[in-house]
Amino acid sequence: MKTKKKIAVIGGGIAGLTFAHCLGSDDYDIEIFERKSSFGEAGAAISVFPNALCVMEEIGLLDRILSAGGHFQRVYIRNSKGKKLSHSTPKSDYPIICIHRADLHGILLTGIPATLSPGFELSSLQETKDGQIQIRFTNGESRLVDGLVGADGLHSRVRRHIVNDGAPLHRGYTIWRGVVDTTFATGYASETMGIGQRVGIVPIKDGKYGWWATCNDSFQQNCDPEGTKEKLLRLFGDWHDPIPELIRNTATILKNGALDRLPIRGWSKGNMTLLGDAAHPTTPNLGQGGCMAIEGSYVLAKTILKYKLGPQAFQRYESLQFPRAKRVVSESLQLGKIGQLTHPFSVALRNLAFQAVPSSMAIKMVDRYFSYRVTNLSI
Ligand SMILES: Cc1cc2nc3c(=O)[nH]c(=O)nc-3n(C[C@H](O)[C@H](O)[C@H](O)COP(=O)(O)OP(=O)(O)OC[C@H]3O[C@@H](n4cnc5c(N)ncnc54)[C@H](O)[C@@H]3O)c2cc1C
Repeated sequence: MKTKKKIAVIGGGIAGLTFAHCLGSDDYDIEIFERKSSFGEAGAAISVFPNALCVMEEIGLLDRILSAGGHFQRVYIRNSKGKKLSHSTPKSDYPIICIHRADLHGILLTGIPATLSPGFELSSLQETKDGQIQIRFTNGESRLVDGLVGADGLHSRVRRHIVNDGAPLHRGYTIWRGVVDTTFATGYASETMGIGQRVGIVPIKDGKYGWWATCNDSFQQNCDPEGTKEKLLRLFGDWHDPIPELIRNTATILKNGALDRLPIRGWSKGNMTLLGDAAHPTTPNLGQGGCMAIEGSYVLAKTILKYKLGPQAFQRYESLQFPRAKRVVSESLQLGKIGQLTHPFSVALRNLAFQAVPSSMAIKMVDRYFSYRVTNLSI
Protein backbone atom coordinates (compact mmCIF):
# COMPACT_ATOMS: atom_id res chain seq x y z
CA MET A 1 0.00 0.00 0.00
CA LYS A 2 1.25 3.50 -0.91
CA THR A 3 2.31 5.51 2.17
CA LYS A 4 0.79 8.95 2.06
CA LYS A 5 2.91 11.99 2.86
CA LYS A 6 1.88 13.87 6.00
CA ILE A 7 0.89 17.52 5.92
CA ALA A 8 0.37 19.47 9.12
CA VAL A 9 -1.86 22.53 8.90
CA ILE A 10 -1.43 24.89 11.85
CA GLY A 11 -4.71 26.76 12.40
CA GLY A 12 -8.32 25.75 11.84
CA GLY A 13 -9.57 29.05 10.40
CA ILE A 14 -11.06 29.64 6.95
CA ALA A 15 -7.66 29.08 5.31
CA GLY A 16 -6.74 25.79 6.99
CA LEU A 17 -10.17 24.24 6.49
CA THR A 18 -10.59 25.37 2.87
CA PHE A 19 -7.12 24.10 2.01
CA ALA A 20 -8.01 20.59 3.23
CA HIS A 21 -11.11 20.58 1.02
CA CYS A 22 -9.12 21.77 -1.99
CA LEU A 23 -6.33 19.19 -1.54
CA GLY A 24 -8.44 16.17 -0.55
CA SER A 25 -7.09 13.03 1.11
CA ASP A 26 -6.27 10.82 -1.91
CA ASP A 27 -2.55 11.53 -1.89
CA TYR A 28 -1.90 13.18 1.47
CA ASP A 29 -2.70 12.70 5.14
CA ILE A 30 -3.75 16.12 6.41
CA GLU A 31 -3.93 16.91 10.12
CA ILE A 32 -5.23 20.31 11.20
CA PHE A 33 -4.04 21.58 14.57
CA GLU A 34 -6.09 24.25 16.30
CA ARG A 35 -5.07 25.90 19.56
CA LYS A 36 -8.67 26.45 20.70
CA SER A 37 -10.39 23.58 22.47
CA SER A 38 -12.84 23.22 19.58
CA PHE A 39 -13.03 24.18 15.93
CA GLY A 40 -15.43 27.08 15.56
CA GLU A 41 -15.86 30.81 15.11
CA ALA A 42 -17.14 33.73 17.12
CA GLY A 43 -20.27 35.72 16.41
CA ALA A 44 -19.67 38.02 13.48
CA ALA A 45 -20.63 38.22 9.84
CA ILE A 46 -18.36 37.72 6.86
CA SER A 47 -18.94 38.72 3.25
CA VAL A 48 -17.94 36.07 0.76
CA PHE A 49 -17.53 37.63 -2.64
CA PRO A 50 -17.78 36.02 -6.09
CA ASN A 51 -13.98 35.68 -6.33
CA ALA A 52 -14.10 33.25 -3.39
CA LEU A 53 -17.42 31.61 -4.27
CA CYS A 54 -15.90 30.16 -7.46
CA VAL A 55 -13.59 28.09 -5.18
CA MET A 56 -16.55 27.02 -3.07
CA GLU A 57 -18.20 25.76 -6.25
CA GLU A 58 -15.08 23.75 -7.15
CA ILE A 59 -15.08 22.01 -3.77
CA GLY A 60 -18.81 21.34 -3.82
CA LEU A 61 -19.83 23.70 -1.00
CA LEU A 62 -21.41 26.52 -2.99
CA ASP A 63 -25.06 25.49 -2.59
CA ARG A 64 -24.77 25.14 1.18
CA ILE A 65 -23.13 28.53 1.47
CA LEU A 66 -25.74 30.16 -0.74
CA SER A 67 -28.57 28.77 1.34
CA ALA A 68 -26.98 29.65 4.71
CA GLY A 69 -26.11 33.23 3.80
CA GLY A 70 -27.94 36.38 2.83
CA HIS A 71 -27.54 37.82 -0.64
CA PHE A 72 -27.36 41.51 -1.34
CA GLN A 73 -27.37 43.29 -4.64
CA ARG A 74 -27.22 46.95 -3.80
CA VAL A 75 -24.60 48.86 -1.81
CA TYR A 76 -25.30 52.38 -0.51
CA ILE A 77 -22.80 54.91 0.74
CA ARG A 78 -24.31 57.45 3.16
CA ASN A 79 -23.23 60.22 5.45
CA SER A 80 -23.88 60.05 9.19
CA LYS A 81 -27.23 61.82 8.84
CA GLY A 82 -28.35 59.14 6.39
CA LYS A 83 -28.02 61.18 3.20
CA LYS A 84 -27.30 58.88 0.26
CA LEU A 85 -23.95 59.75 -1.35
CA SER A 86 -23.90 56.95 -3.92
CA HIS A 87 -25.21 53.52 -4.72
CA SER A 88 -24.08 50.65 -6.89
CA THR A 89 -25.43 47.28 -7.99
CA PRO A 90 -22.43 45.08 -8.77
CA LYS A 91 -23.10 42.39 -11.38
CA SER A 92 -21.45 38.99 -11.30
CA ASP A 93 -21.94 35.35 -12.23
CA TYR A 94 -22.12 34.60 -8.46
CA PRO A 95 -24.13 36.53 -5.87
CA ILE A 96 -22.55 38.47 -3.02
CA ILE A 97 -23.06 36.52 0.17
CA CYS A 98 -22.98 37.57 3.77
CA ILE A 99 -22.92 34.69 6.22
CA HIS A 100 -22.53 34.17 9.96
CA ARG A 101 -18.94 33.05 10.55
CA ALA A 102 -20.12 30.15 12.70
CA ASP A 103 -22.25 28.88 9.79
CA LEU A 104 -19.39 29.18 7.31
CA HIS A 105 -17.17 27.24 9.70
CA GLY A 106 -19.84 24.58 10.20
CA ILE A 107 -20.07 24.09 6.43
CA LEU A 108 -16.28 23.86 6.05
CA LEU A 109 -16.02 21.36 8.91
CA THR A 110 -18.65 18.96 7.56
CA GLY A 111 -17.01 16.10 5.67
CA ILE A 112 -13.58 17.69 5.84
CA PRO A 113 -10.95 15.27 4.47
CA ALA A 114 -8.53 15.79 7.37
CA THR A 115 -7.90 14.75 10.95
CA LEU A 116 -8.96 17.54 13.30
CA SER A 117 -6.84 18.08 16.41
CA PRO A 118 -8.26 20.78 18.70
CA GLY A 119 -6.34 21.89 21.80
CA PHE A 120 -3.01 21.77 19.93
CA GLU A 121 -1.14 25.07 20.14
CA LEU A 122 2.08 25.13 18.14
CA SER A 123 5.06 25.93 20.32
CA SER A 124 8.10 25.17 18.12
CA LEU A 125 9.24 23.94 14.72
CA GLN A 126 12.46 22.31 13.65
CA GLU A 127 13.52 21.16 10.20
CA THR A 128 15.35 17.83 10.08
CA LYS A 129 18.30 17.12 7.75
CA ASP A 130 16.11 15.19 5.32
CA GLY A 131 13.58 18.01 4.98
CA GLN A 132 10.92 16.82 7.40
CA ILE A 133 9.55 19.08 10.11
CA GLN A 134 9.40 18.25 13.79
CA ILE A 135 6.49 20.10 15.39
CA ARG A 136 5.96 20.52 19.10
CA PHE A 137 2.79 21.66 20.84
CA THR A 138 2.21 23.25 24.20
CA ASN A 139 0.18 20.20 25.32
CA GLY A 140 3.37 18.12 25.16
CA GLU A 141 2.48 16.33 21.90
CA SER A 142 4.72 16.31 18.83
CA ARG A 143 4.58 15.23 15.17
CA LEU A 144 7.10 14.56 12.41
CA VAL A 145 5.63 15.64 9.05
CA ASP A 146 6.65 15.98 5.40
CA GLY A 147 5.11 19.40 4.86
CA LEU A 148 3.74 22.22 6.99
CA VAL A 149 1.19 24.92 6.20
CA GLY A 150 1.08 27.84 8.61
CA ALA A 151 -2.56 28.97 8.51
CA ASP A 152 -2.34 30.40 12.01
CA GLY A 153 -3.60 33.89 11.29
CA LEU A 154 -2.47 37.44 11.80
CA HIS A 155 -0.05 36.76 14.68
CA SER A 156 1.30 33.59 13.05
CA ARG A 157 3.95 31.69 14.94
CA VAL A 158 4.92 29.85 11.77
CA ARG A 159 5.52 33.23 10.12
CA ARG A 160 7.86 34.13 12.96
CA HIS A 161 9.86 31.00 12.11
CA ILE A 162 9.92 31.59 8.33
CA VAL A 163 9.85 35.39 7.82
CA ASN A 164 10.38 36.85 11.29
CA ASP A 165 9.20 40.36 10.37
CA GLY A 166 7.86 41.35 13.76
CA ALA A 167 4.36 42.28 14.83
CA PRO A 168 1.60 43.34 12.40
CA LEU A 169 1.17 47.07 11.75
CA HIS A 170 -1.60 48.98 13.50
CA ARG A 171 -3.26 51.43 11.11
CA GLY A 172 -4.64 53.83 13.71
CA TYR A 173 -8.28 52.81 14.09
CA THR A 174 -10.35 50.25 15.93
CA ILE A 175 -13.10 48.06 14.49
CA TRP A 176 -16.09 46.70 16.42
CA ARG A 177 -18.42 44.05 15.02
CA GLY A 178 -21.65 42.35 15.93
CA VAL A 179 -24.56 40.27 14.69
CA VAL A 180 -28.08 41.25 15.66
CA ASP A 181 -31.68 40.15 15.10
CA THR A 182 -33.69 43.14 13.97
CA THR A 183 -37.16 44.11 12.98
CA PHE A 184 -36.12 46.27 10.04
CA ALA A 185 -35.36 44.86 6.63
CA THR A 186 -33.12 46.58 4.13
CA GLY A 187 -32.05 43.84 1.71
CA TYR A 188 -29.01 45.90 0.81
CA ALA A 189 -25.59 46.60 2.29
CA SER A 190 -24.53 50.06 3.34
CA GLU A 191 -21.50 51.95 4.50
CA THR A 192 -21.90 55.21 6.39
CA MET A 193 -19.01 57.65 6.39
CA GLY A 194 -18.44 60.10 9.21
CA ILE A 195 -15.40 62.00 10.43
CA GLY A 196 -12.79 59.45 11.44
CA GLN A 197 -15.65 57.00 11.89
CA ARG A 198 -17.60 54.56 9.73
CA VAL A 199 -20.39 52.00 10.07
CA GLY A 200 -21.19 49.12 7.70
CA ILE A 201 -24.38 47.05 7.67
CA VAL A 202 -24.87 43.77 5.82
CA PRO A 203 -27.97 41.54 5.74
CA ILE A 204 -27.25 37.93 6.78
CA LYS A 205 -30.50 35.97 6.75
CA ASP A 206 -33.88 35.64 8.47
CA GLY A 207 -33.78 39.11 10.04
CA LYS A 208 -30.14 38.81 11.13
CA TYR A 209 -27.79 41.64 10.27
CA GLY A 210 -24.07 41.99 10.63
CA TRP A 211 -22.58 45.40 11.36
CA TRP A 212 -19.15 46.87 11.87
CA ALA A 213 -18.05 50.26 13.14
CA THR A 214 -14.69 52.01 13.08
CA CYS A 215 -13.22 54.96 14.91
CA ASN A 216 -9.77 56.52 14.82
CA ASP A 217 -7.91 55.75 18.03
CA SER A 218 -7.14 59.46 18.51
CA PHE A 219 -10.90 60.12 18.80
CA GLN A 220 -11.45 57.74 21.65
CA GLN A 221 -9.29 59.21 24.37
CA ASN A 222 -10.62 60.03 27.84
CA CYS A 223 -13.36 57.44 27.58
CA ASP A 224 -12.60 55.18 30.53
CA PRO A 225 -14.26 53.83 32.53
CA GLU A 226 -16.91 53.06 29.96
CA GLY A 227 -18.38 49.81 28.59
CA THR A 228 -18.11 48.98 24.91
CA LYS A 229 -21.78 49.63 24.21
CA GLU A 230 -21.75 52.95 26.05
CA LYS A 231 -18.68 54.00 24.12
CA LEU A 232 -20.23 53.03 20.78
CA LEU A 233 -23.47 54.82 21.62
CA ARG A 234 -21.46 57.89 22.55
CA LEU A 235 -19.68 57.68 19.19
CA PHE A 236 -22.61 56.64 16.97
CA GLY A 237 -25.77 57.31 19.03
CA ASP A 238 -26.84 60.28 16.86
CA TRP A 239 -26.13 58.58 13.52
CA HIS A 240 -28.97 57.71 11.17
CA ASP A 241 -31.36 54.79 11.82
CA PRO A 242 -30.98 51.92 12.39
CA ILE A 243 -27.36 52.36 13.58
CA PRO A 244 -28.08 53.21 17.26
CA GLU A 245 -30.67 50.41 17.43
CA LEU A 246 -28.22 47.87 15.99
CA ILE A 247 -25.61 48.73 18.59
CA ARG A 248 -28.13 48.78 21.44
CA ASN A 249 -29.56 45.35 20.57
CA THR A 250 -26.30 43.48 19.99
CA ALA A 251 -25.50 40.97 22.73
CA THR A 252 -21.81 40.37 21.94
CA ILE A 253 -19.57 43.02 20.43
CA LEU A 254 -16.12 42.03 19.15
CA LYS A 255 -13.24 44.48 18.94
CA ASN A 256 -10.10 44.44 16.75
CA GLY A 257 -7.39 46.86 15.77
CA ALA A 258 -7.06 47.61 12.04
CA LEU A 259 -3.94 45.56 11.36
CA ASP A 260 -2.02 44.35 8.35
CA ARG A 261 1.54 43.75 7.22
CA LEU A 262 3.56 45.12 4.33
CA PRO A 263 3.03 42.61 1.54
CA ILE A 264 6.40 40.90 1.10
CA ARG A 265 7.48 37.68 -0.55
CA GLY A 266 9.51 34.95 1.12
CA TRP A 267 6.77 33.19 3.08
CA SER A 268 7.81 29.71 1.93
CA LYS A 269 10.91 27.92 3.15
CA GLY A 270 11.82 24.33 2.29
CA ASN A 271 8.75 22.23 2.98
CA MET A 272 6.93 24.97 4.91
CA THR A 273 4.67 27.75 3.69
CA LEU A 274 2.09 30.26 4.96
CA LEU A 275 -1.55 30.61 3.99
CA GLY A 276 -4.30 33.21 4.52
CA ASP A 277 -3.73 35.95 7.09
CA ALA A 278 -0.44 34.35 8.12
CA ALA A 279 0.87 35.11 4.61
CA HIS A 280 -0.90 38.35 3.66
CA PRO A 281 -3.05 39.95 6.37
CA THR A 282 -5.05 42.94 5.22
CA THR A 283 -7.18 45.63 6.78
CA PRO A 284 -10.84 44.69 6.24
CA ASN A 285 -11.83 47.67 4.06
CA LEU A 286 -12.39 45.55 0.97
CA GLY A 287 -13.78 42.54 2.85
CA GLN A 288 -11.22 40.41 1.04
CA GLY A 289 -9.01 38.88 3.78
CA GLY A 290 -11.06 35.70 4.10
CA CYS A 291 -11.73 35.64 0.35
CA MET A 292 -7.98 35.75 -0.33
CA ALA A 293 -7.47 32.96 2.22
CA ILE A 294 -9.93 30.90 0.16
CA GLU A 295 -8.21 31.80 -3.13
CA GLY A 296 -4.78 30.97 -1.67
CA SER A 297 -6.03 27.61 -0.37
CA TYR A 298 -7.08 26.69 -3.87
CA VAL A 299 -3.77 27.76 -5.44
CA LEU A 300 -1.69 25.98 -2.80
CA ALA A 301 -3.63 22.72 -3.17
CA LYS A 302 -3.45 22.83 -6.96
CA THR A 303 0.31 23.50 -6.99
CA ILE A 304 0.88 20.59 -4.56
CA LEU A 305 -1.24 18.32 -6.76
CA LYS A 306 0.70 19.39 -9.85
CA TYR A 307 4.30 19.65 -8.56
CA LYS A 308 4.03 17.34 -5.50
CA LEU A 309 4.59 18.45 -1.93
CA GLY A 310 7.80 20.45 -1.67
CA PRO A 311 9.65 23.69 -2.41
CA GLN A 312 8.73 23.80 -6.12
CA ALA A 313 5.02 23.72 -5.36
CA PHE A 314 5.34 26.24 -2.54
CA GLN A 315 7.38 28.68 -4.66
CA ARG A 316 4.91 28.43 -7.51
CA TYR A 317 1.98 29.00 -5.12
CA GLU A 318 3.68 32.05 -3.67
CA SER A 319 4.47 33.55 -7.06
CA LEU A 320 0.85 33.12 -8.18
CA GLN A 321 -0.68 34.41 -4.93
CA PHE A 322 1.63 37.31 -4.15
CA PRO A 323 0.68 39.88 -6.85
CA ARG A 324 -3.02 39.55 -6.05
CA ALA A 325 -2.42 39.77 -2.30
CA LYS A 326 -0.09 42.76 -2.66
CA ARG A 327 -2.69 44.68 -4.62
CA VAL A 328 -5.57 43.91 -2.26
CA VAL A 329 -3.57 44.69 0.89
CA SER A 330 -2.31 48.00 -0.55
CA GLU A 331 -5.66 49.14 -1.93
CA SER A 332 -7.50 48.18 1.26
CA LEU A 333 -5.03 50.25 3.25
CA GLN A 334 -5.66 53.28 0.99
CA LEU A 335 -9.41 52.84 1.19
CA GLY A 336 -9.15 52.78 4.99
CA LYS A 337 -7.25 56.07 4.95
CA ILE A 338 -10.00 57.68 2.86
CA GLY A 339 -12.70 56.22 5.11
CA GLN A 340 -11.01 57.46 8.29
CA LEU A 341 -10.31 61.05 7.12
CA THR A 342 -10.79 63.70 9.80
CA HIS A 343 -9.98 67.08 8.26
CA PRO A 344 -13.34 68.76 7.48
CA PHE A 345 -12.14 69.89 4.04
CA SER A 346 -10.93 66.40 3.07
CA VAL A 347 -14.13 64.83 4.41
CA ALA A 348 -16.28 67.24 2.38
CA LEU A 349 -14.20 66.57 -0.74
CA ARG A 350 -14.47 62.79 -0.23
CA ASN A 351 -18.23 62.96 0.16
CA LEU A 352 -18.54 65.14 -2.93
CA ALA A 353 -16.41 62.67 -4.86
CA PHE A 354 -18.75 59.82 -3.83
CA GLN A 355 -21.70 61.84 -5.12
CA ALA A 356 -19.96 62.72 -8.37
CA VAL A 357 -18.74 59.23 -9.29
CA PRO A 358 -21.33 57.53 -11.53
CA SER A 359 -22.52 54.16 -10.29
CA SER A 360 -21.06 52.48 -13.42
CA MET A 361 -17.60 53.62 -12.34
CA ALA A 362 -18.15 52.44 -8.75
CA ILE A 363 -19.15 49.04 -10.13
CA LYS A 364 -16.00 48.94 -12.27
CA MET A 365 -13.89 49.62 -9.19
CA VAL A 366 -15.28 46.73 -7.14
CA ASP A 367 -15.39 44.47 -10.16
CA ARG A 368 -11.58 44.40 -10.15
CA TYR A 369 -11.78 42.30 -6.98
CA PHE A 370 -14.97 40.35 -7.63
CA SER A 371 -14.25 39.23 -11.18
CA TYR A 372 -10.89 37.62 -10.36
CA ARG A 373 -11.20 33.85 -10.94
CA VAL A 374 -8.41 31.94 -9.26
CA THR A 375 -9.92 28.78 -10.76
CA ASN A 376 -8.87 30.02 -14.22
CA LEU A 377 -5.20 30.46 -13.32
CA SER A 378 -2.68 28.42 -15.19
CA ILE A 379 -1.00 26.52 -12.36
C1 LIG B 1 -13.41 43.46 11.38
C2 LIG B 1 -13.08 42.46 10.32
C3 LIG B 1 -13.97 42.24 9.29
C4 LIG B 1 -13.66 41.35 8.27
N1 LIG B 1 -14.56 41.15 7.26
C5 LIG B 1 -14.24 40.29 6.26
C6 LIG B 1 -15.17 40.05 5.19
O1 LIG B 1 -16.29 40.57 5.17
N2 LIG B 1 -14.80 39.21 4.18
C7 LIG B 1 -13.58 38.59 4.18
O2 LIG B 1 -13.29 37.83 3.25
N3 LIG B 1 -12.69 38.80 5.18
C8 LIG B 1 -13.00 39.61 6.22
N4 LIG B 1 -12.12 39.79 7.25
C9 LIG B 1 -10.82 39.08 7.21
C10 LIG B 1 -10.95 37.63 7.64
O3 LIG B 1 -11.57 37.55 8.91
C11 LIG B 1 -9.58 36.97 7.71
O4 LIG B 1 -8.84 37.32 6.58
C12 LIG B 1 -9.72 35.47 7.79
O5 LIG B 1 -10.36 35.10 8.98
C13 LIG B 1 -8.35 34.81 7.69
O6 LIG B 1 -8.50 33.43 7.86
P1 LIG B 1 -7.25 32.57 8.35
O7 LIG B 1 -7.74 31.16 8.39
O8 LIG B 1 -6.08 32.88 7.52
O9 LIG B 1 -6.91 33.10 9.80
P2 LIG B 1 -7.78 33.04 11.14
O10 LIG B 1 -9.22 33.15 10.84
O11 LIG B 1 -7.16 34.02 12.07
O12 LIG B 1 -7.52 31.57 11.68
C14 LIG B 1 -6.29 31.21 12.27
C15 LIG B 1 -6.54 30.04 13.20
O13 LIG B 1 -5.26 29.60 13.71
C16 LIG B 1 -5.39 29.36 15.10
N5 LIG B 1 -4.05 29.52 15.68
C17 LIG B 1 -3.36 30.68 15.88
N6 LIG B 1 -2.16 30.42 16.43
C18 LIG B 1 -2.09 29.08 16.58
C19 LIG B 1 -1.07 28.20 17.10
N7 LIG B 1 0.11 28.67 17.59
N8 LIG B 1 -1.30 26.85 17.12
C20 LIG B 1 -2.48 26.37 16.63
N9 LIG B 1 -3.48 27.15 16.14
C21 LIG B 1 -3.28 28.49 16.11
C22 LIG B 1 -6.39 30.40 15.57
O14 LIG B 1 -6.99 30.03 16.79
C23 LIG B 1 -7.39 30.42 14.41
O15 LIG B 1 -8.42 29.47 14.56
C24 LIG B 1 -12.41 40.67 8.29
C25 LIG B 1 -11.52 40.88 9.34
C26 LIG B 1 -11.85 41.75 10.35
C27 LIG B 1 -10.86 41.96 11.48
